[in-house]
This record gives sequence, C-alpha cells and structure tokens, in this order.
Amino acid sequence: MENVRVLIIGSGPAGYTAAIYTSRANLQPVLYEGIEPGGQLTTTTEVENFPGYPEGIDGPQMMADIRKQAQRFGAELRSGIITKVDLSSRPFHVIVDGSKEIVAESLIIATGASAKYLGLPSETKFRGQGVSACATCDGFFYRKKDVAVVGGGDTACEEATYLASLCRKVYLIVRKPFLRASKAMQERVFNTPNIEVLFEHNTAEVLGDESGVTGALLHKTDGSERKIEISGFFLAIGHHPNTELFAGQLELDAEGYIKVEGGSSRTSVEGVFAAGDVKDPHYRQAITAAGSGCIAALDCERFLLR
Ligand code: NDP
Repeated sequence: MENVRVLIIGSGPAGYTAAIYTSRANLQPVLYEGIEPGGQLTTTTEVENFPGYPEGIDGPQMMADIRKQAQRFGAELRSGIITKVDLSSRPFHVIVDGSKEIVAESLIIATGASAKYLGLPSETKFRGQGVSACATCDGFFYRKKDVAVVGGGDTACEEATYLASLCRKVYLIVRKPFLRASKAMQERVFNTPNIEVLFEHNTAEVLGDESGVTGALLHKTDGSERKIEISGFFLAIGHHPNTELFAGQLELDAEGYIKVEGGSSRTSVEGVFAAGDVKDPHYRQAITAAGSGCIAALDCERFLLR
C-alpha cells in the first residue's frame, strides 16, 4: 500500500495543469494517465485557439508539452487505470489496475468526457481525417467546403450555425422528424440559408478515400437512400462524462457530470476536487479545462494546508 498526498486521475489539460500547480507547491502529486493518455486533444489535429501558440500546435504535441512541464516540477506521471475508489472516509482508498492499492489524502478528478460516436467502422476509419466531434476545434479546416453535422440537439444546432459561417454548405442530419434543440436554436438553424436539415435521416456509411472524407450515405426512414458529398463529418450527438467510478459516492447531475460548489472545484466530498470536462457540460475547451485544473490544484493545496 502506498500513501500519497495528492492523487490526480486523468491526463488531459485539466489533469496535467493540476499536476503542474501541485508539484510546484511541493505536494508531490501522483497522476494516473488512464485509458487515453493526453485525453481528447490527442484525437484532434491542429489546435489554433489555445493562447500562447500564435502559429497553432498539434493537439498531441501540446499535450506532450504540458506533460513535460508537469514532469519538470517533479509530478509523478504513471500509466495505469483507476479501477476502484472508496470515498467513504479519508484518506481515500484507490485501486489501480485491479490490484495496486493507494491511500490518498486528497483527490483531483480530471477524467474528462467522451464524445459519443455512431459506432460505424467507416466513421472510426476517418476519425481525424474528416470525422470530428468538435466543430470549434476543427471547423476552420473546412472553410468554403461542404460538411455535415449529425444530431438534433442544442450542440448540433450550435455547431451547424458555427460551421455555416465558415463553410459553403452544412447538412444537418437528424434522425427524428423534429429537432430537440431549444426554439431559439432551431430558429437560428432554419434562418441560416446554407444549412439544409435532413429530417428522418440516419448515416449508413461515411465515404472516403486516402484524402479523407468525401461523402456520406444516408438512409431515410421511408426506406430511400441519399448520398451527400462532404469533406467534413461532425458528430454532435452528445458527450458522456467519465464518472462511472464515482457514481453513488459523489453528487452527480442528471447527465452524470460531477457537481461542484459555485466556481470552485470542491465536490460533495471534502478533499475530492473535480476539474475539466468531467464537471463541465457547457464549455468543454482545452483552455477552460486547463484553467479549472489550476483551480482544483489551488483548492486542493488550501485543503491540505488547512
Ligand atoms: P442532446 O442529448 O440534447 O442531443 C443529442 C442529439 O443527438 C439528439 O437530437 C439525439 O437525437 C441525437 N442523437 C443521439 N444519438 C444519436 C444517434 N445514435 N444517431 C443520430 N442521432 C443521435 O445533446 P447536446 O450535446 O445537444 O446537449 C447536451 C445538453 O447541453 C442539453 O441539455 C443542451 O440543451 C445543452 N446545451 C446547451 C447549449 C446552449 O444553451 N447554448 C449549447 C449546447 C448544449 P434524438 O432527439 O432523436 O434523441
């Protein structure tokens, strides 16, 4: 059994930033990188909206840089997956990879959220080559091109209108005969001339070649088929926060996001802090995640010094 002062779970911008701050505060943090070291940003190409990179930077490179910065101050970064946590008493008991036991005085949860995908093999094949789940991150690369967005909620409508300001044409692929989004968002979509809403359509196949996505094959609920020519295929069918480990132990909202007190990172259990997308259903940006990692580190430091 190993004792640690600060255990950080998750390795996106939130987790690594929390590691930078807590290691600089001499709290000797231990961070487990989890299933996807570097988090969602490792699945994007270029990041152009993170301040400090005037020429933009590759998502994986940026995460490698932030990781190196955390190591510079002595954070111990480990590969491994947290398989169980017991938050019923402090210090907290945590199991890594099903066997190793750690006792942690404090915990920073930065396990992120995962975009939902349709689950088509062709969609997986072209991920990062035209298939994206983040219009704000990748929309810019499709300027003056035709793209499609899948989904009928607020995110899909927001992404479709954002993309419509950059792209020549946006198809919004909606499986139902109506949009689930708020009336205001729906009106925005219907009033944008270069958005075509395809109600009652499902994607059967993402089409492409060595250059990336070239189209999509759609099935309508009346049995008809339609092929559209597109360069970008954006998923906006929701995200799910990675909070399964904490269900029943921490207060979560209806969608499973960790609830925090006001603008802080404090969760319903004293000594447990949350940062990044795991507690943020709204903004979901690298910069907001990094900022919340800093907040969690400062909250954690104050808690330990108290
Ligand atoms: P939602 O769960 O609201 O919507 C998901 C959409 O994707 C639905 O239209 C759903 O269809 C569709 N969908 C789900 N699975 C599939 C599938 N397998 N194939 C095709 N379509 C699918 O998620 P959002 O991300 O849009 O929103 C999450 C929350 O965040 C909501 O509460 C929303 O209001 C909020 N939000 C608010 C914003 C704002 O106020 N500006 C902006 C963005 C989000 P169906 O309707 O048939 O289930």
